[in-house]
Amino acid sequence: MSYKLIFKIGQNFRNPSLTKNYLFLKESEHWSLEKLKAYQLLKLQELVAFSYHHSSYYKTAFDAIGLKPSDIESLEDIKKLPIVSKQELIQYATEIHTFKKGNKKFKASTSGTSGSSLTFWKDEHADSFNRASIFRGYSWYDVQPWERNLYFWGFQFSVFSKLKYGILDALQNRFRIFSYQENSLKRMIPKLKKVSFMHGYSSMIYEVAKLYNQWQLEKPTQLKMIKGTSEKVFPAYQHEIEKAFGLKMINEYGAAESGIIAFECPKGSMHINMEGVLVEAINNEILVTNLQQTSFPILRYQLGDYIALGDASEHCTCGMQHTILKEVTGRIGKVVHGIEEQYPSLYFYYIFKNLGQQQQLYLNYQVQQHTKGTLLFLIEQALTDLQLALVKKEITSYFKNDMHVEIKSKQVISANLKKQESFISTI
Ligand SMILES: [Zn+2]
Repeated sequence: MSYKLIFKIGQNFRNPSLTKNYLFLKESEHWSLEKLKAYQLLKLQELVAFSYHHSSYYKTAFDAIGLKPSDIESLEDIKKLPIVSKQELIQYATEIHTFKKGNKKFKASTSGTSGSSLTFWKDEHADSFNRASIFRGYSWYDVQPWERNLYFWGFQFSVFSKLKYGILDALQNRFRIFSYQENSLKRMIPKLKKVSFMHGYSSMIYEVAKLYNQWQLEKPTQLKMIKGTSEKVFPAYQHEIEKAFGLKMINEYGAAESGIIAFECPKGSMHINMEGVLVEAINNEILVTNLQQTSFPILRYQLGDYIALGDASEHCTCGMQHTILKEVTGRIGKVVHGIEEQYPSLYFYYIFKNLGQQQQLYLNYQVQQHTKGTLLFLIEQALTDLQLALVKKEITSYFKNDMHVEIKSKQVISANLKKQESFISTI
């Protein structure tokens, strides 16, 4: 049996509506911005009405502010709806759910990096729509999901789960690496030659690229796409990855609750998946509405990232009119404590962005704060005295005299198997 056939049989069993959703998305990718927005309004109206009638949480919340579903007459009217936080989704999960007996659904959960994790039911349509959105992204790179692929995953596995994933991987023509120790990598290299795409943690792909360059290996010949997820992609990663594999790493942005939010096109723009999500940027903070999920409706959800959206006049040369997500600039909520003042952790993003743009100094970093008024900057690259002075100067321009700063270069950062965070505070 071919991998395509095995894949299709599995897909039809697990996600019967996936093909239909995929065909829809392949058609709507040619839509004008106006048509996309008209579709979003229709889906929003449906979702608000559905939530009002089937979710006791939303009924109570809308009644409290006197909102009727018919009040949503334009996309702007979404501002009439209350904002929901992750804490509220967790606390009121039972009331938010709209169970319908017999409907096919999947259990989903979010990774609890901030300590709190959310578990909810995702209906078959929402799950299939989300997968179809990812596969549409693949199609821009001429990648079929059943083609040979390498998955980088940084978790430790028990023997049982290794066996389970081994079977799942074989069915999906996928092999995965669990660690990037030199020995396991060496065994993997002959397989890499036939890989059509790689995906997974950006830091792991970066580590493999470094070894690849160090060993001066030949570039894989069949490779069409490298996709990084779940983590910050430092500019320094791209240099190393392109040198090793001949391709830039592309970005996918999303979350379990919201589904896929944006996918990078071959021209380098992160297009919002407008058919699946409605994205607002309020004071640079993302609010996301999942337009396709009814089992656990998510409206105006504070995902916790700062973003920058492109304006409507910006057109991507790929031809798609979907709004462009210019940047995911950082996580919200973490405060940096100076001696006197407090600062947003977003500053670190700008400091290192400036160093890259103005000084061509592309650094992988992690900032740690363990006491107020002191910051520890860990930098992966080796720094000359001059470069060190540039880094110090840039940091000082943001924190002035309100912060004691220590900088350590040649630190191991991306090799950390845990989900990578660019700012860690223990205060
Ligand atoms: Zn594009």
